Amino acid sequence: MAEITLEKIVSLCKRRGFIFQSSEIYGGLNGAYDYGPLGVELKNNIRDFWWKEMTRLHDDIVGLDSSILMHPRVWEASGHVQNFSDPMVDCKQCKARFRSDQIDLAAPCPNCGTRDSFTEPRNFNLMFSTHIGAASDASSKIYLRPETAQGIYADFKNVVSSSRVKVPFGIAQVGKSFRNEITTKHFIFRSCEFEQMEMQWFCTPGTDEKWFAYWKEQRMAFYHKIGIRPSRLRWHQHGADELAFYAKDAYDIQYLFPMGWQELEGVHNRTDYDLSQHQSFSGKDMTYLDPVSGERYIPYVVETSAGLTRTVLMALSDAYEEETLEGGDVRTVLRFHPLIAPITVAVLPLVKKDGLAEVARELEKDLRDEFATFYDESGAIGRRYRRMDEIGTPYCVTVDYQSLEDKTVTLRHRDTMEQVRVSITDLVASIKGATASYTRGGSEA
Ligand code: ATP
Repeated sequence: MAEITLEKIVSLCKRRGFIFQSSEIYGGLNGAYDYGPLGVELKNNIRDFWWKEMTRLHDDIVGLDSSILMHPRVWEASGHVQNFSDPMVDCKQCKARFRSDQIDLAAPCPNCGTRDSFTEPRNFNLMFSTHIGAASDASSKIYLRPETAQGIYADFKNVVSSSRVKVPFGIAQVGKSFRNEITTKHFIFRSCEFEQMEMQWFCTPGTDEKWFAYWKEQRMAFYHKIGIRPSRLRWHQHGADELAFYAKDAYDIQYLFPMGWQELEGVHNRTDYDLSQHQSFSGKDMTYLDPVSGERYIPYVVETSAGLTRTVLMALSDAYEEETLEGGDVRTVLRFHPLIAPITVAVLPLVKKDGLAEVARELEKDLRDEFATFYDESGAIGRRYRRMDEIGTPYCVTVDYQSLEDKTVTLRHRDTMEQVRVSITDLVASIKGATASYTRGGSEA
């Protein structure tokens, strides 16, 4: 089995239009990425599936889209101004910057090899700051949000008073976050601009442990539903050295990336810390009046905080396979679950002539309402299948001469490469059925 490296995934992402380095024509910008035609579809599919799972399938979770720019006091209340920093050293020789907890300070600089060239470690705040309005003094300083969660806490009262939610309930949000990471590494894994999918669950103190267990289970199940191999997912409980002082318990979901086990999502019991902080910094009442018991209290929060762009990298890493076929040929295949594949169905005429192209084009248009489709008539049919395998298209529909006679087509399944003859009238149902019962095929299933 060929080793799957991050370099292979990066190269496929660029070659096939999943992900590009930002501003590449100017030499690139570190820690920023562009999602190309296929990447944006993959990312949106994961986001939409998360949104459906976390809001529409729960009548007690509502959505929110809060702004990236917030009042600077928010980040004082949250602790980010004080504490959201990493220890950093600079090499005096080459000016390269490192996290001092990630390198051996007694060793030569990993970049230029100079000895004893590091500055003293100092704390480096990860928030990007900017100025709002025309003046650019200390009073106009604001931050780009480093997480989406604070927007949810700040709007807690607005949501309670404007919608019919009752504790326990959740607020979900997907959006961009920014962190001035000292070392951006591993492609999109750790970037300066990224997207998060967060849900904050507000519950009565005393019920938090029950809900914590519930959300842990739900969140792991989510990754199984989008087809990630369970053997590559695990829980990591925060030890005493990692646990935030206010947190009661915290677990991370980790995935076995090509560079090893790494965090993907955090499920944290944050107690009443965040709402209490905002109450004391804003002077506004953040309590909740329980309509049944008549009690007034600050709810506890169980947070589920996932990286959307990091999930994209996980989906790519998990799907990527180089499969040796009978005869020795190797095909690169992305075994995406059909629910998240950028293109669900490709429609291909066997040849362009004799009216096959016209029938295929018409069929592709008919399928657009139901699926993300793609039409391709150029090149030998085998090469067209390989192109679709490489971008993870689960189904190829081929129109051939028999189609003109009996209105049937072949339906090719990516994982098994098996082709079955299906009547055009049954095509939508066949594809939906195959998606509903999908299990990953292939050598590493
Ligand atoms: P790490 O320890 O990896 O820096 P964290 O513990 O600071 O992450 P959280 O603040 O808990 O991360 O953020 C929740 C999720 O947001 C992470 O699990 C990850 O998926 C995502 N995330 C955080 N920082 C980044 C980043 N720089 N680039 C991409 N995704 C990120």
